[in-house]
Amino acid sequence: MNINENYEAIMTKVTAACERAGRDLEEVTVMAVTKYVSAERVEQAIEAGIKNFGESRHDGLLEKKQAIQAPVHWHFVGRLQSRKVKEVVHECDVIHSLDRPSLAKEINKRYQGETPVACMVQVNVSGEETKAGVTPDELEDFVRSLESYEHIRVTGFMTMAPHAENPEDVRPYFRQLRELRDHIQRLKLPHAPCHHLSMGMSNDFEQAVEEGATIIRLGTSLVGNETRREE
Ligand SMILES: *Cc1c(COP(=O)(O)O)cnc(C)c1O
Repeated sequence: MNINENYEAIMTKVTAACERAGRDLEEVTVMAVTKYVSAERVEQAIEAGIKNFGESRHDGLLEKKQAIQAPVHWHFVGRLQSRKVKEVVHECDVIHSLDRPSLAKEINKRYQGETPVACMVQVNVSGEETKAGVTPDELEDFVRSLESYEHIRVTGFMTMAPHAENPEDVRPYFRQLRELRDHIQRLKLPHAPCHHLSMGMSNDFEQAVEEGATIIRLGTSLVGNETRREE
C-alpha cells in the first residue's frame, strides 16, 4: 500500500474526469477517509500531500486528531448521534451528515464559536431505507428551517450512492444531487450558500467528478483498509 502511488493514480483519473466535464481541477478536493486505518497511515497521507481527512465515528475522529499534529482539515462524514455532538462539534471543520431537525438543534445548542459551523445536509437521493439523509422532497423545507440556527451555515450537500457493480448506474443520483444544489442555490438563502457537493467514493468518484462533485471521499482506494484481513 503506497499512498503516493494511489494518490497519483487517483489524481490522474480526477484530472481526466475534469477534462471530460470541462471543469477546473481546482474545484475538486480529495478527502482521505481514514476510518479503516491507523494514525500512521494518516501521517503517510499527509506526507503524500493530502490535506483533508474524514472520519465517520466520533471516537475515530478524536483519536486521530490527538495523534496528528499537522494543520490539516478534519471532516465528520458518518452518522452523528445527538449525544456525541458536544464531543465533535469543535473538533472538525465540516460536518457532512446533517440529516435531521433534532441534530441541527443539538449542533446549534452545543457550538460555541464566532463563525458558524460548516454543515452539509445529507440527502438520501436513492431512497434506500438503510441510508440516512433527508429525502429530495423534504430538502428545501429542511434547508429553510435551518435559518433560525445562528451557528449553522449550510455549505452544501452530501450523498452516499448505493453500491453498484457498474458505477455508471449511480451517475443519475449524483446528477440529481447537483440539480437539487442548483435549485437551492438559486433561492439565495443567506445562511445556505451551498456551493459544495460531497459525493463520490472509491468505486464511483470519476462519475461523481463528472457530475460536479467538489469533495470526493476516498477510503480504500487511497489509504487502504487495514481491517479487511480480519473480516
Ligand atoms: C467509508 C466512507 C467513505 C469511503 O469509502 P471507500 O469506499 O472506502 O472509499 C466515504 N464516505 C463515507 C461517508 C464513508 O463512511
